[in-house]
Amino acid sequence: MSLIVQKYGGTSVGTIERIQAVASRVAESHRAGQQLVVAVSAMSGETNRLIGLAKEIDEHPSSREMDVLVSTGEQVTIALLCMALNNIGIEARSYTGGQVRILTDDAHGKARIKEIDSHRLQDDLNAGFVVVVAGFQGTDEKGNITTLGRGGSDTTAVALAAALEADECQIYTDVDGVYTTDPRVVASAQRLDKITFEEMLEMASQGSKILQIRSVEFAGKYNVPLRVMSSFEEGPGTLISLEEDDQMEKPVVSGIAFNRDEAKLTIRGIPDQPGVAYKVLGAISDANIEIDVIVQNVAKDNSATITFTVHRDDLAAAQKLLTQIAADLGAKEVDADDAIAKISIVGVGMKSHAGVAAKMFKILADEGINILLITTSEIKITVVVEERYLELAVRSLHSGFDLDTSVA
Ligand code: ADP
Ligand code: ASP
Ligand code: MG
Repeated sequence: MSLIVQKYGGTSVGTIERIQAVASRVAESHRAGQQLVVAVSAMSGETNRLIGLAKEIDEHPSSREMDVLVSTGEQVTIALLCMALNNIGIEARSYTGGQVRILTDDAHGKARIKEIDSHRLQDDLNAGFVVVVAGFQGTDEKGNITTLGRGGSDTTAVALAAALEADECQIYTDVDGVYTTDPRVVASAQRLDKITFEEMLEMASQGSKILQIRSVEFAGKYNVPLRVMSSFEEGPGTLISLEEDDQMEKPVVSGIAFNRDEAKLTIRGIPDQPGVAYKVLGAISDANIEIDVIVQNVAKDNSATITFTVHRDDLAAAQKLLTQIAADLGAKEVDADDAIAKISIVGVGMKSHAGVAAKMFKILADEGINILLITTSEIKITVVVEERYLELAVRSLHSGFDLDTSVA
Protein backbone atom coordinates (compact mmCIF):
# COMPACT_ATOMS: atom_id res chain seq x y z
CA MET A 1 0.00 0.00 0.00
CA SER A 2 1.49 3.35 -0.95
CA LEU A 3 1.66 6.33 1.37
CA ILE A 4 1.12 9.73 -0.16
CA VAL A 5 1.32 13.17 1.43
CA GLN A 6 -0.90 15.72 -0.30
CA LYS A 7 -0.77 19.45 0.38
CA TYR A 8 -3.53 21.86 -0.59
CA GLY A 9 -2.74 25.58 -0.74
CA GLY A 10 -4.89 28.58 0.12
CA THR A 11 -6.89 28.88 -3.10
CA SER A 12 -7.47 25.13 -3.13
CA VAL A 13 -9.27 25.43 0.22
CA GLY A 14 -10.48 29.01 -0.30
CA THR A 15 -14.23 28.31 -0.02
CA ILE A 16 -16.49 25.59 1.39
CA GLU A 17 -17.09 24.33 -2.16
CA ARG A 18 -13.33 24.11 -2.74
CA ILE A 19 -12.88 22.24 0.56
CA GLN A 20 -15.60 19.80 -0.54
CA ALA A 21 -13.84 19.38 -3.89
CA VAL A 22 -10.57 18.64 -2.05
CA ALA A 23 -12.44 16.11 0.11
CA SER A 24 -13.66 14.30 -3.02
CA ARG A 25 -10.15 14.20 -4.43
CA VAL A 26 -8.77 12.86 -1.14
CA ALA A 27 -11.60 10.32 -0.93
CA GLU A 28 -10.82 9.09 -4.43
CA SER A 29 -7.15 8.47 -3.56
CA HIS A 30 -8.17 6.84 -0.27
CA ARG A 31 -10.67 4.53 -1.98
CA ALA A 32 -8.00 3.62 -4.51
CA GLY A 33 -6.11 2.12 -1.57
CA GLN A 34 -3.58 4.82 -0.74
CA GLN A 35 -2.69 5.81 2.79
CA LEU A 36 -3.04 9.58 2.95
CA VAL A 37 -1.69 12.39 5.04
CA VAL A 38 -3.06 15.76 3.96
CA ALA A 39 -1.44 19.07 4.91
CA VAL A 40 -3.52 22.19 4.38
CA SER A 41 -3.00 25.94 4.26
CA ALA A 42 -5.38 28.55 5.61
CA MET A 43 -8.19 29.71 3.30
CA SER A 44 -6.70 32.16 0.78
CA GLY A 45 -6.40 35.67 2.15
CA GLU A 46 -6.85 34.52 5.75
CA THR A 47 -3.20 34.78 6.82
CA ASN A 48 -3.02 38.31 5.37
CA ARG A 49 -6.28 39.22 7.10
CA LEU A 50 -4.90 38.07 10.46
CA ILE A 51 -1.66 40.00 9.93
CA GLY A 52 -3.77 43.07 9.11
CA LEU A 53 -5.71 42.75 12.38
CA ALA A 54 -2.47 42.60 14.37
CA LYS A 55 -1.09 45.66 12.60
CA GLU A 56 -4.19 47.63 13.53
CA ILE A 57 -3.02 47.25 17.11
CA ASP A 58 0.74 47.41 16.74
CA GLU A 59 2.99 47.88 13.66
CA HIS A 60 5.55 45.55 15.31
CA PRO A 61 3.61 43.07 17.44
CA SER A 62 5.32 40.41 19.54
CA SER A 63 6.49 37.63 17.25
CA ARG A 64 5.30 35.03 19.75
CA GLU A 65 1.75 36.40 19.74
CA MET A 66 1.89 36.82 15.99
CA ASP A 67 2.46 33.06 15.65
CA VAL A 68 -0.40 32.28 18.02
CA LEU A 69 -2.58 34.47 15.80
CA VAL A 70 -1.57 33.44 12.26
CA SER A 71 -1.48 29.72 13.03
CA THR A 72 -5.26 29.81 13.60
CA GLY A 73 -5.99 29.99 9.86
CA GLU A 74 -4.81 26.43 9.35
CA GLN A 75 -6.71 25.13 12.38
CA VAL A 76 -9.94 26.19 10.67
CA THR A 77 -9.21 24.38 7.41
CA ILE A 78 -8.08 21.07 8.97
CA ALA A 79 -11.37 20.81 10.88
CA LEU A 80 -13.51 21.81 7.89
CA LEU A 81 -11.72 19.34 5.62
CA CYS A 82 -12.23 16.50 8.11
CA MET A 83 -15.92 17.38 8.38
CA ALA A 84 -16.21 17.35 4.60
CA LEU A 85 -14.46 13.97 4.49
CA ASN A 86 -16.63 12.51 7.25
CA ASN A 87 -19.65 13.76 5.35
CA ILE A 88 -18.77 11.60 2.36
CA GLY A 89 -18.03 8.54 4.46
CA ILE A 90 -14.28 8.86 4.97
CA GLU A 91 -12.92 8.63 8.48
CA ALA A 92 -10.49 11.46 9.00
CA ARG A 93 -8.70 13.08 11.92
CA SER A 94 -7.26 16.55 12.12
CA TYR A 95 -4.16 17.61 14.05
CA THR A 96 -2.47 20.94 14.68
CA GLY A 97 1.31 21.08 14.35
CA GLY A 98 1.70 20.96 18.13
CA GLN A 99 -0.51 17.87 18.41
CA VAL A 100 1.60 16.01 15.86
CA ARG A 101 4.69 17.22 17.68
CA ILE A 102 6.25 19.01 14.79
CA LEU A 103 9.17 20.27 16.82
CA THR A 104 10.83 23.48 15.59
CA ASP A 105 13.43 25.93 16.84
CA ASP A 106 12.13 29.07 18.53
CA ALA A 107 12.59 31.53 15.65
CA HIS A 108 9.02 32.84 15.58
CA GLY A 109 7.77 33.64 12.10
CA LYS A 110 10.58 31.70 10.39
CA ALA A 111 10.99 28.59 12.50
CA ARG A 112 12.79 25.54 11.18
CA ILE A 113 11.53 22.01 11.70
CA LYS A 114 13.89 19.92 13.83
CA GLU A 115 11.93 16.72 14.31
CA ILE A 116 8.55 15.14 13.65
CA ASP A 117 7.06 12.42 15.78
CA SER A 118 5.38 10.26 13.17
CA HIS A 119 4.10 7.51 15.52
CA ARG A 120 0.66 8.92 16.13
CA LEU A 121 0.13 9.57 12.44
CA GLN A 122 1.34 6.12 11.54
CA ASP A 123 -1.06 4.52 14.05
CA ASP A 124 -3.98 6.47 12.57
CA LEU A 125 -2.97 5.50 9.05
CA ASN A 126 -2.75 1.85 10.03
CA ALA A 127 -6.22 2.12 11.54
CA GLY A 128 -7.52 3.37 8.17
CA PHE A 129 -7.90 7.07 8.90
CA VAL A 130 -7.05 9.89 6.56
CA VAL A 131 -4.83 12.20 8.62
CA VAL A 132 -5.17 15.95 8.10
CA VAL A 133 -2.39 18.15 9.47
CA ALA A 134 -2.28 21.93 9.79
CA GLY A 135 0.46 23.34 7.57
CA PHE A 136 2.79 26.23 8.42
CA GLN A 137 3.05 25.53 12.16
CA GLY A 138 4.86 23.65 14.89
CA THR A 139 5.87 24.12 18.51
CA ASP A 140 9.27 24.78 20.06
CA GLU A 141 10.87 22.84 22.95
CA LYS A 142 8.85 24.87 25.43
CA GLY A 143 5.54 24.27 23.67
CA ASN A 144 5.25 27.77 22.19
CA ILE A 145 3.43 27.86 18.85
CA THR A 146 5.77 28.70 15.97
CA THR A 147 5.23 29.28 12.24
CA LEU A 148 7.51 28.40 9.36
CA GLY A 149 7.44 31.57 7.24
CA ARG A 150 5.08 32.52 4.41
CA GLY A 151 4.26 29.61 2.17
CA GLY A 152 5.38 27.28 4.95
CA SER A 153 2.70 24.64 4.43
CA ASP A 154 4.79 23.33 1.53
CA THR A 155 7.56 22.64 4.03
CA THR A 156 5.17 20.95 6.47
CA ALA A 157 4.08 18.59 3.69
CA VAL A 158 7.60 17.69 2.57
CA ALA A 159 8.80 17.26 6.16
CA LEU A 160 5.87 14.93 6.87
CA ALA A 161 6.65 12.99 3.70
CA ALA A 162 10.29 12.66 4.78
CA ALA A 163 9.38 11.61 8.34
CA LEU A 164 6.83 9.03 7.12
CA GLU A 165 9.03 7.91 4.22
CA ALA A 166 6.11 8.57 1.91
CA ASP A 167 6.18 7.40 -1.67
CA GLU A 168 5.41 10.87 -3.00
CA CYS A 169 4.61 14.36 -1.80
CA GLN A 170 2.01 16.06 -3.98
CA ILE A 171 1.65 19.83 -3.78
CA TYR A 172 -1.81 20.78 -5.07
CA THR A 173 -2.14 24.41 -6.07
CA ASP A 174 -3.88 26.76 -8.52
CA VAL A 175 -1.57 26.06 -11.48
CA ASP A 176 -1.05 22.64 -13.05
CA GLY A 177 2.68 22.45 -12.41
CA VAL A 178 5.94 24.35 -12.42
CA TYR A 179 6.23 26.57 -15.48
CA THR A 180 9.21 28.03 -17.29
CA THR A 181 8.26 31.27 -15.53
CA ASP A 182 5.23 32.58 -13.62
CA PRO A 183 2.35 31.90 -16.05
CA ARG A 184 0.48 34.86 -14.58
CA VAL A 185 3.16 37.18 -15.92
CA VAL A 186 4.16 35.46 -19.16
CA ALA A 187 1.16 33.90 -20.92
CA SER A 188 3.40 31.80 -23.17
CA ALA A 189 5.12 30.08 -20.24
CA GLN A 190 5.26 26.28 -20.59
CA ARG A 191 4.62 23.63 -18.00
CA LEU A 192 7.67 21.51 -17.28
CA ASP A 193 7.20 17.73 -17.01
CA LYS A 194 10.29 17.47 -14.84
CA ILE A 195 12.75 19.73 -13.11
CA THR A 196 15.73 18.82 -10.90
CA PHE A 197 15.86 19.70 -7.18
CA GLU A 198 18.89 21.85 -7.93
CA GLU A 199 17.02 23.92 -10.52
CA MET A 200 13.87 24.12 -8.45
CA LEU A 201 15.90 25.32 -5.48
CA GLU A 202 17.42 28.13 -7.56
CA MET A 203 13.99 29.03 -8.99
CA ALA A 204 12.49 29.20 -5.49
CA SER A 205 15.48 31.04 -4.02
CA GLN A 206 15.35 33.59 -6.82
CA GLY A 207 11.71 34.39 -6.27
CA SER A 208 9.39 31.76 -7.78
CA LYS A 209 6.89 31.55 -4.98
CA ILE A 210 5.32 28.36 -6.26
CA LEU A 211 7.22 26.40 -3.57
CA GLN A 212 8.74 27.60 -0.32
CA ILE A 213 12.54 27.36 -0.54
CA ARG A 214 12.82 25.24 2.60
CA SER A 215 10.44 22.65 1.16
CA VAL A 216 12.69 22.12 -1.85
CA GLU A 217 15.76 21.93 0.38
CA PHE A 218 14.06 19.28 2.49
CA ALA A 219 12.89 17.32 -0.52
CA GLY A 220 16.42 17.33 -1.95
CA LYS A 221 18.05 16.39 1.34
CA TYR A 222 15.72 13.47 2.07
CA ASN A 223 15.14 12.60 -1.58
CA VAL A 224 11.35 12.97 -1.32
CA PRO A 225 9.77 12.70 -4.78
CA LEU A 226 7.86 15.95 -5.08
CA ARG A 227 5.11 16.70 -7.58
CA VAL A 228 3.38 20.04 -8.15
CA MET A 229 -0.13 19.68 -9.56
CA SER A 230 -3.47 21.44 -9.86
CA SER A 231 -6.33 20.88 -7.44
CA PHE A 232 -8.67 22.31 -10.09
CA GLU A 233 -7.92 19.99 -13.01
CA GLU A 234 -6.45 16.58 -13.77
CA GLY A 235 -2.95 16.24 -15.14
CA PRO A 236 0.50 14.84 -14.48
CA GLY A 237 1.89 18.09 -12.98
CA THR A 238 5.63 18.58 -12.64
CA LEU A 239 7.91 16.04 -11.00
CA ILE A 240 10.85 17.46 -9.08
CA SER A 241 13.53 14.82 -8.87
CA LEU A 242 17.21 14.11 -8.49
CA GLU A 243 18.17 13.00 -11.92
CA GLU A 244 19.41 15.30 -14.64
CA ASP A 245 18.15 13.14 -17.44
CA ASP A 246 19.83 13.37 -20.78
CA GLN A 247 22.08 16.41 -20.47
CA MET A 248 22.34 16.71 -24.26
CA GLU A 249 18.62 17.24 -24.65
CA LYS A 250 18.45 19.65 -21.74
CA PRO A 251 17.68 23.24 -22.68
CA VAL A 252 20.35 25.67 -21.50
CA VAL A 253 17.77 27.65 -19.60
CA SER A 254 14.96 25.73 -17.88
CA GLY A 255 13.23 28.62 -16.21
CA ILE A 256 13.19 32.29 -15.29
CA ALA A 257 12.54 33.50 -11.76
CA PHE A 258 12.08 37.07 -10.63
CA ASN A 259 11.14 39.13 -7.65
CA ARG A 260 10.39 42.65 -6.57
CA ASP A 261 11.20 41.99 -2.93
CA GLU A 262 14.60 43.61 -2.80
CA ALA A 263 16.06 47.10 -2.53
CA LYS A 264 19.54 48.35 -3.39
CA LEU A 265 21.89 50.34 -1.18
CA THR A 266 25.13 52.00 -2.25
CA ILE A 267 27.89 53.48 -0.16
CA ARG A 268 30.39 55.59 -2.17
CA GLY A 269 33.78 57.12 -1.63
CA ILE A 270 34.96 54.83 1.16
CA PRO A 271 38.72 55.32 1.71
CA ASP A 272 39.88 51.88 0.49
CA GLN A 273 41.81 49.73 2.92
CA PRO A 274 41.72 46.09 3.95
CA GLY A 275 38.62 45.32 5.93
CA VAL A 276 36.16 47.87 4.50
CA ALA A 277 33.86 45.26 3.02
CA TYR A 278 33.80 43.54 6.38
CA LYS A 279 33.13 46.80 8.23
CA VAL A 280 30.23 47.69 5.96
CA LEU A 281 28.61 44.31 5.34
CA GLY A 282 29.52 42.79 8.70
CA ALA A 283 27.65 45.55 10.51
CA ILE A 284 24.58 44.99 8.31
CA SER A 285 24.49 41.26 8.92
CA ASP A 286 25.17 41.73 12.63
CA ALA A 287 21.88 43.61 12.66
CA ASN A 288 20.27 40.41 11.30
CA ILE A 289 19.65 41.94 7.90
CA GLU A 290 20.16 39.45 5.12
CA ILE A 291 22.33 40.66 2.25
CA ASP A 292 21.85 39.21 -1.22
CA VAL A 293 23.73 40.55 -4.28
CA ILE A 294 27.01 42.38 -3.52
CA VAL A 295 29.27 44.38 -5.86
CA GLN A 296 32.41 46.30 -4.89
CA ASN A 297 34.43 48.66 -7.11
CA VAL A 298 37.60 50.55 -6.42
CA ALA A 299 38.10 53.82 -8.30
CA LYS A 300 41.44 55.25 -9.50
CA ASP A 301 41.62 57.51 -6.45
CA ASN A 302 41.52 54.35 -4.32
CA SER A 303 38.07 55.01 -2.95
CA ALA A 304 35.70 52.07 -2.85
CA THR A 305 32.02 51.81 -3.71
CA ILE A 306 29.96 48.93 -2.33
CA THR A 307 26.48 48.17 -3.62
CA PHE A 308 24.30 45.43 -2.18
CA THR A 309 20.68 44.39 -1.97
CA VAL A 310 18.49 43.60 1.05
CA HIS A 311 14.84 42.69 1.45
CA ARG A 312 12.61 45.75 0.94
CA ASP A 313 11.23 45.36 4.44
CA ASP A 314 14.75 45.84 5.79
CA LEU A 315 15.59 48.89 3.67
CA ALA A 316 14.87 51.58 6.24
CA ALA A 317 16.87 49.84 8.97
CA ALA A 318 19.76 49.07 6.60
CA GLN A 319 19.87 52.63 5.27
CA LYS A 320 20.00 54.07 8.77
CA LEU A 321 22.82 51.75 9.72
CA LEU A 322 24.73 52.41 6.51
CA THR A 323 24.54 56.17 7.03
CA GLN A 324 26.12 55.68 10.43
CA ILE A 325 28.82 53.40 8.98
CA ALA A 326 29.52 55.97 6.25
CA ALA A 327 30.13 58.64 8.89
CA ASP A 328 32.44 56.31 10.86
CA LEU A 329 34.48 55.36 7.78
CA GLY A 330 34.57 58.83 6.26
CA ALA A 331 32.66 57.66 3.16
CA LYS A 332 31.16 60.27 0.82
CA GLU A 333 27.56 59.22 0.38
CA VAL A 334 24.86 56.60 0.77
CA ASP A 335 21.92 56.10 -1.50
CA ALA A 336 18.98 53.74 -1.57
CA ASP A 337 16.70 52.54 -4.35
CA ASP A 338 13.71 50.29 -3.89
CA ALA A 339 12.36 50.48 -7.45
CA ILE A 340 14.42 47.50 -8.58
CA ALA A 341 13.69 43.94 -9.63
CA LYS A 342 15.84 40.85 -9.72
CA ILE A 343 15.65 38.42 -12.62
CA SER A 344 17.41 35.05 -12.81
CA ILE A 345 17.75 32.57 -15.62
CA VAL A 346 18.20 29.04 -14.26
CA GLY A 347 19.28 25.77 -15.88
CA VAL A 348 21.55 22.81 -15.25
CA GLY A 349 22.30 22.92 -18.98
CA MET A 350 24.38 26.07 -18.31
CA LYS A 351 27.09 23.91 -16.78
CA SER A 352 28.04 22.65 -20.21
CA HIS A 353 27.40 25.78 -22.29
CA ALA A 354 29.47 28.91 -22.73
CA GLY A 355 28.14 32.31 -23.74
CA VAL A 356 24.85 32.12 -21.85
CA ALA A 357 25.55 35.30 -19.87
CA ALA A 358 26.57 37.21 -22.99
CA LYS A 359 23.34 36.12 -24.69
CA MET A 360 21.30 37.25 -21.68
CA PHE A 361 22.99 40.67 -21.66
CA LYS A 362 22.44 41.07 -25.40
CA ILE A 363 18.73 40.30 -25.14
CA LEU A 364 18.39 42.95 -22.42
CA ALA A 365 20.54 45.46 -24.32
CA ASP A 366 18.41 45.01 -27.45
CA GLU A 367 15.40 46.08 -25.37
CA GLY A 368 17.31 49.10 -24.01
CA ILE A 369 17.26 47.68 -20.48
CA ASN A 370 20.10 48.80 -18.28
CA ILE A 371 21.62 46.18 -15.96
CA LEU A 372 22.35 47.52 -12.48
CA LEU A 373 23.97 44.46 -10.89
CA ILE A 374 25.02 40.99 -12.02
CA THR A 375 25.76 37.83 -10.08
CA THR A 376 26.16 34.25 -11.21
CA SER A 377 26.42 30.70 -9.91
CA GLU A 378 27.00 27.43 -11.71
CA ILE A 379 23.38 27.06 -12.81
CA LYS A 380 22.00 30.61 -12.72
CA ILE A 381 22.67 34.14 -13.88
CA THR A 382 21.00 36.96 -12.00
CA VAL A 383 20.61 40.59 -12.99
CA VAL A 384 19.08 43.49 -11.14
CA VAL A 385 17.22 46.01 -13.31
CA GLU A 386 14.87 48.94 -12.78
CA GLU A 387 11.51 47.61 -11.66
CA ARG A 388 9.63 49.26 -14.53
CA TYR A 389 11.46 46.94 -16.96
CA LEU A 390 10.67 43.73 -15.10
CA GLU A 391 7.92 42.35 -17.30
CA LEU A 392 9.57 43.38 -20.55
CA ALA A 393 12.85 41.81 -19.44
CA VAL A 394 11.24 38.52 -18.38
CA ARG A 395 9.21 38.26 -21.59
CA SER A 396 12.22 39.01 -23.83
CA LEU A 397 14.42 36.52 -22.01
CA HIS A 398 11.64 33.93 -22.14
CA SER A 399 11.38 34.15 -25.92
CA GLY A 400 15.12 34.81 -26.42
CA PHE A 401 15.97 31.51 -24.72
CA ASP A 402 13.28 29.64 -26.70
CA LEU A 403 11.00 28.99 -23.77
CA ASP A 404 7.77 30.23 -25.38
CA THR A 405 5.15 27.65 -26.23
CA SER A 406 5.15 26.85 -29.92
CA VAL A 407 1.38 27.42 -30.12
CA ALA A 408 0.80 31.15 -30.52
P1 ADP B 1 -0.68 27.97 -2.86
O1 ADP B 1 -1.64 28.91 -2.21
O2 ADP B 1 -1.34 26.77 -3.45
O3 ADP B 1 0.48 27.62 -1.97
P2 ADP B 1 0.98 29.87 -4.28
O4 ADP B 1 0.30 31.13 -4.61
O5 ADP B 1 1.90 29.85 -3.10
O6 ADP B 1 -0.12 28.73 -4.14
O7 ADP B 1 1.79 29.32 -5.54
C1 ADP B 1 1.16 29.20 -6.78
C2 ADP B 1 1.47 30.41 -7.65
O8 ADP B 1 2.86 30.47 -7.94
C3 ADP B 1 0.81 30.40 -9.01
O9 ADP B 1 -0.48 30.91 -8.96
C4 ADP B 1 1.77 31.24 -9.87
O10 ADP B 1 1.28 32.54 -10.09
C5 ADP B 1 3.03 31.35 -9.02
N1 ADP B 1 4.25 31.01 -9.73
C6 ADP B 1 5.43 31.72 -9.68
N2 ADP B 1 6.35 31.17 -10.43
C7 ADP B 1 5.80 30.06 -11.00
C8 ADP B 1 6.28 29.07 -11.89
N3 ADP B 1 7.53 29.08 -12.36
N4 ADP B 1 5.45 28.08 -12.25
C9 ADP B 1 4.18 28.02 -11.78
N5 ADP B 1 3.66 28.95 -10.94
C10 ADP B 1 4.47 29.97 -10.55
N1 ASP C 1 -1.09 30.29 5.33
C1 ASP C 1 0.35 30.52 5.25
C2 ASP C 1 0.65 31.67 4.29
O1 ASP C 1 -0.27 32.26 3.75
C3 ASP C 1 1.11 29.29 4.89
C4 ASP C 1 0.84 28.71 3.52
O2 ASP C 1 -0.16 29.05 2.89
O3 ASP C 1 1.65 27.90 3.06
O4 ASP C 1 1.79 32.02 4.12
MG1 MG D 1 2.30 28.60 -1.53
